[in-house]
Amino acid sequence: MSNVSFNRKRAKLKQVLGIRARLALLAVILVTPLMFERIRSLEDTRTRQIAQATAEFTTVARHSADAQREVISSVETILKSEAFIRASAGGISKSCDVLRASLPSNLPWIRTLLIAGQDGRIQCATNNMYVGLDLSDRPYFQQAQETGRFVLSDFILSRPVLTPTVMAVYPVSAFSGVADAVVLATVNLDWMSKVMSNLGGRAGITAVLVDSTGTVLAAPADQHSAIGRPLDNMPLMSAIADKALRSDQDEGSLSFLAADGSRRAVSYIRIAGTNARLIASIDEDKVSAAVSRDIRTAYLQLAFVVVFVLLGALIAAEKLVIKPIRMLADMAKRLGEGDLSARAARNRLPAEFVPLARAFNAMAAQLSQRERELMASNDRLTVMASIDMLSGLANRRGFQSRLDFEWMRAQQYGSDLALLMIDVDHFKLFNDTYGHLEGDSCLTRLGESLSGIAADTMGFAARYGGEEFCLLLPNTDVARAVEIGEQARAAVLKLGLPHITSDHMIVTVSIGVAATKPNESLRPGDLIEAADAALYAAKHRGRNNVVEHGITVIDNGAAEMMMAG
Ligand code: GH3
Ligand code: MG
Ligand code: MG
Repeated sequence: MSNVSFNRKRAKLKQVLGIRARLALLAVILVTPLMFERIRSLEDTRTRQIAQATAEFTTVARHSADAQREVISSVETILKSEAFIRASAGGISKSCDVLRASLPSNLPWIRTLLIAGQDGRIQCATNNMYVGLDLSDRPYFQQAQETGRFVLSDFILSRPVLTPTVMAVYPVSAFSGVADAVVLATVNLDWMSKVMSNLGGRAGITAVLVDSTGTVLAAPADQHSAIGRPLDNMPLMSAIADKALRSDQDEGSLSFLAADGSRRAVSYIRIAGTNARLIASIDEDKVSAAVSRDIRTAYLQLAFVVVFVLLGALIAAEKLVIKPIRMLADMAKRLGEGDLSARAARNRLPAEFVPLARAFNAMAAQLSQRERELMASNDRLTVMASIDMLSGLANRRGFQSRLDFEWMRAQQYGSDLALLMIDVDHFKLFNDTYGHLEGDSCLTRLGESLSGIAADTMGFAARYGGEEFCLLLPNTDVARAVEIGEQARAAVLKLGLPHITSDHMIVTVSIGVAATKPNESLRPGDLIEAADAALYAAKHRGRNNVVEHGITVIDNGAAEMMMAG
């Protein structure tokens, strides 16, 4: 991997892991466990609810099975006592009388009591229409005769009226000890269903009482239509029937995934002493529907809260971190660009950023103070750069810029501008005679003198170079300039600085004067040249005098200098 692409990837990663992303991640890390805890507790509730429903239902089913067993054992008791009477009373008619008289009204589930002879033919019954019916081919009759014990038949349709029923059979042989008649009872299935009523009306719960072939004997009111039908015909129940009926245990429970995808818990209890089983099935999804809904809601809430928290974190990061940083960075940038008035608005910043803003502002204040000092010292340096230290007058540079300025002003107002070029006579000889230091102090004295004249005449005096001075005179025509030149020459004479190697024995100066009305066709340099030429003339005329020079403009605009004096 090249260095460049590695660095680019690193920059991208940094961007991804920026403060905003980190804060958002932190917020999600904080919120998610809380939400997952809620979901976990709901999942627990669901598991608990299913377990509770299963346990509760198993109890109810067991009670129901107990009630069924009680019904059956009450039938068994009645039959037993009838069989006993039949065995001991001897004679059919007497026992038939007793039978008719003993149909208990407080046991509404016994519809009919019957006595069948050893041959299977019904000898007497509480309902006469059964009399004479032959039961010898019925499995329950045969089973009772063979086992000598109480038998409960599978589901049958009672022949004369085709009523769904089960037969309870008790053989008299149990008492007589020899092959004998049997006592029978038709059991009212409605009553059995009523006993199961407390198993009905619950969402996701199915309960049925089935015989050994899987035919439904009894069911709660809401599943009443299933009575008399094989369990196979009931949706979801066929698999249950298979599992419950094939088991040789009296009681059990199992959980499986039904064909429709629902998870079902099944409990089955065998009614003691019979082949009938009470089967109860719970659709876990339906039982836990409310909690499942809550869990779905919780997941939605989680998503919502995560989005909300993410947004919150992003906004908070923007407002509390990114914006202040951007503001301070902007300020630093403005400072960098030289805008020293830039300041951070502390009241708009979070408290944590205030010290930083304060430090920034202090730095900005210090920078602007430094800049002021720098500008002042720069001004001083500029002034110093245009001052001649020896004479105390402006130097050539200072003169040049003043000349440019006055030239422009005179041109603007159409006024006169005059220039005096002043040169010390025989200064080389002065130096030679008195030494360079003496020469310097002579120049200083001359400077002071010129400075006084400049002050009196509103002029500007400068040291042009070496022992040459100049005096710029705004608003001054050539005549007045010559006057001032004479004043200057006189002032030098008046100083009376000794100069024994000069003709005059004292220091004298020669002065060249030039004056003009500045215009487009002339340049400041022309004025200097003219004054220089006049000075040259003054030297030529024997020194210690003042010579003027006029500048006139000739036709084609070219400047020409003419000697006027
Ligand atoms: P003239 O009358 O023709 O002007 O003769 P001059 O000797 O004055 O002129 P020249 O140009 O020959 O000599 C000028 C002298 O001025 C030479 C130099 O030593 C002297 N000089 C220039 N600047 C300074 C200075 O700053 N201090 C001193 N002491 N002497 C200076
Ligand atoms: Mg000179
Ligand atoms: Mg000279």
